[in-house]
Amino acid sequence: MKKFLIFPILILVIFINTGATSPSKHIVDYHIKAKLLTEEKIVFGEEALTWLNTGDVPVSELHFHLYLNAFKNNRSTFMRESGGSHRGFAVDKDRWGYIDVSRIGIQDGADLTPTITYIQPDDQNPDDQTVMQVLLPEPLPPGETIILEIIFQSKLPQVFARSGYKGNFFMVAQWFPKIGVWENGAWNCHQYHSSSEFYADFGIFEVDITVPEDFVLGATGKRIKEVKNSDETMTYTHYQENIHDFAWTACPDFVEIHKSFTLPDPPVQTEMIFLIHKAHLKLTDRYEESLRNGLEFYSQSYGAYPYETITLVDPPLKAMGAGGMEYPTLFTSMGSWFFPKGLRLPEMVTIHEFGHGYWYGMVASNEFEEAWLDEGINSYSEIKAMDHYYGKDRSMLDLGAIKMSDLVRSRVSILGLSKLDPIMTRSWEFYSKGSYGANVYAKAALTLLTLERYLGEDVMAEVMKTYFKRWKFKHPKSADFFAVAEEVSGQDLDWFFDQFFKTPGQLDYSVGRVRSVEIKDPQGIFKGELVEPDKTKDSPEEKIYKNEVVILRKGDLFFPQEILIVFENGEEIRETWEGKDRWKRFEYIKPNKLKLAEIDPEYKIPLDINQMNNSRLLKPNKTPILKLALGITLYFQKLLTLLPF
Ligand SMILES: [Zn+2]
Repeated sequence: MKKFLIFPILILVIFINTGATSPSKHIVDYHIKAKLLTEEKIVFGEEALTWLNTGDVPVSELHFHLYLNAFKNNRSTFMRESGGSHRGFAVDKDRWGYIDVSRIGIQDGADLTPTITYIQPDDQNPDDQTVMQVLLPEPLPPGETIILEIIFQSKLPQVFARSGYKGNFFMVAQWFPKIGVWENGAWNCHQYHSSSEFYADFGIFEVDITVPEDFVLGATGKRIKEVKNSDETMTYTHYQENIHDFAWTACPDFVEIHKSFTLPDPPVQTEMIFLIHKAHLKLTDRYEESLRNGLEFYSQSYGAYPYETITLVDPPLKAMGAGGMEYPTLFTSMGSWFFPKGLRLPEMVTIHEFGHGYWYGMVASNEFEEAWLDEGINSYSEIKAMDHYYGKDRSMLDLGAIKMSDLVRSRVSILGLSKLDPIMTRSWEFYSKGSYGANVYAKAALTLLTLERYLGEDVMAEVMKTYFKRWKFKHPKSADFFAVAEEVSGQDLDWFFDQFFKTPGQLDYSVGRVRSVEIKDPQGIFKGELVEPDKTKDSPEEKIYKNEVVILRKGDLFFPQEILIVFENGEEIRETWEGKDRWKRFEYIKPNKLKLAEIDPEYKIPLDINQMNNSRLLKPNKTPILKLALGITLYFQKLLTLLPF
């Protein structure tokens, strides 16, 4: 074992109850000293954690996340669920990762180490060690704080799922013993699952990180100190309040660039820090432009970005498993020198991951249980931002004749898989990773866009602003979002939320039949007499037609429909239908034949799974161009789904 720098005695942590002035309630206060051994891929850590019991009952045991143990062996819950890969990147079975707590104790008090056990609240998998429990010698009463001292060692895996190393690049995330959330008299501390992200209480983080002096370091929060050590290392201290996690990255191949961002309305002043891998310097301007766009769009749409820094990390290509991930005030994007300008992946990932700073970072709902509140709302925001800055029809792809919007990319994502689970499903209980992804990202985003078009853009903008303002730093649940939408719009939306979020199924309406049949003059035997057609009245303009349009509800979900009906003479009729029955017939007796029937002529319902069946001409003409476009879209979709975000 290599030498372990013994840190000075942990500084006495004084609990700062800044509830009166701080936007978030500081339930946790972490002071961590970390030292990275680059050869061994180990982080040695000493953690002083002050924790406040905000509940109504005494607490006699503490639960901690030990996320890195997901990578300890092939039988952890993460590895069993994922089969050893994450977003297309596979584990290296010679390079496991884990976290070892060698001591946990109460400051100036009992050693809790002998009471350590691993528990598996979600699946009882005895091989999973991602949740640690320790017992307190006496219960901690409500309103009281406890200071814990923890010594740990984190062995980083070769990165394939967010955290780890590759070569000389280190992404150190989910790396320290992290206390769960005590709520409603119980611990909310889920195991690390293949399809789930995170949940934690807000507080203060002050972290000293020691790395070799030739490494460039990026970390959550603001740098408040840097010290050159005698052993060719540097120690950087980062500090941040009103956050619930802390991540850092180190690599000698980063080029560090600082730029400032200011906005007059709402007032924003923040420092943008770019850590760009030296092989991707070509992307610097694209990263900067898209981060500026993200800062502006989210600040104006939801509320001013409140932190003093935002750090964009561009991982090397070989460490893409670390790319496209959010942490408080820091995120990883992704790109490569060969990405053409018209493939707006670095832009989309930058805006998306920055945007998480709002929904994951500040609103901070429970991602284990209601992931859509982060990923879905964030994907909705991302689509709107991408459309706004890069063009509604070409925001994702703009390569000559090939164009695709971010909205279309999302639409293709929900084909097939989104009908198996409700959006509101606990992350690890989805049918598959694909169903998790299709539902909590794209289907939730498209559902919100559909709601936006139903309520009107202004009303929806007010819903989103109100939701963010009211619930930031408070961990809202789905019901809180629904209540804000109903309150702001003044409408009962239970029918919408109950269907779209709480039941599986798809939305698909189609034009089933378009028919015009001439109504001939009476001919045959009527009342015992033979009636002959009137041969004198045979000019075409006197023909009368029975025109019939049938609209079908093919999906399980219903949504009010608007139908445009066009006749051969150019006359247009607009119909509405509440859309609840399985089909609806519209009939018109007119001297003109039908030309076209079209559902949702203004494209207000992006959630309609199949827009190819939304219109029908009386005389069908084949549409090879459309089919070709769909083919190209599917191809790029496949390409894009290989990449994480
Ligand atoms: Zn995301």
